[in-house]
Amino acid sequence: MSRLHDACARAGRDPGTVELIAVSKTHPASAVADLVGCGQFLFGESRVQEARAKIPLCPGRARWHFIGHLQSNKLRQALPCFECFHGIDSLDLAVQADRVAQELGLHPRVLLQVNVAGESSKFGFRPEALERDLETLLGLRRLQIEGLMTLPPAAPDPERSRPFFRQLRTLRDELAARSGAGLPQLSMGMSGDFQIAVEEGATLVRVGTALFGPRPAKGRGMEISDP
Ligand SMILES: *Cc1c(COP(=O)(O)O)cnc(C)c1O
Repeated sequence: MSRLHDACARAGRDPGTVELIAVSKTHPASAVADLVGCGQFLFGESRVQEARAKIPLCPGRARWHFIGHLQSNKLRQALPCFECFHGIDSLDLAVQADRVAQELGLHPRVLLQVNVAGESSKFGFRPEALERDLETLLGLRRLQIEGLMTLPPAAPDPERSRPFFRQLRTLRDELAARSGAGLPQLSMGMSGDFQIAVEEGATLVRVGTALFGPRPAKGRGMEISDP
């Protein structure tokens, strides 16, 4: 947490403009409770099943964001558990989320995941698709679309992430100017590159390993969906 303050200071940003999401996937409720005891209240999970089992065991003051890829058949279970969804990655998923939110009487906050690097292995809107679909997305009355999220290609050197973070911010600026929508949130940066993300305008950083220590390796990488 103090490293995030340092990163804000170096980037000349008010720490109040960047929120830390503690990514607790694979870690037990007791680890979440420890951080809540230190004053960290915002947590991120990337699997619906795991989160549904864990959240009831955690302190009630914890708030939850869903940061993973969401399968449409999990929407009904997931929507009531999280205040914000970072992985809305297609028009089809957004339309279905809007419909289920209507049925459940919810107005979820949403970030649109963008595949800025165009990696075939990653989920997310291509920037061109988002330019085309944004108007339709903003017309989905149940979704509060607050901004964009990205996951750049894994790289040993965090500086490699900078162009992708910058592209996300530029895309946000263009989309906001064109549509008149605010789109204030930029969810970008993880343990290895959150300092760079803060320099490039992140408002939400998703940090797991640097807070909780390493995750068990097997089958627990990011972007792996629930079975
Ligand atoms: C796991 C995960 C993170 C956290 O990664 P760390 O490298 O442990 O900080 C961030 N974002 C997403 C989407 C993830 O799946």
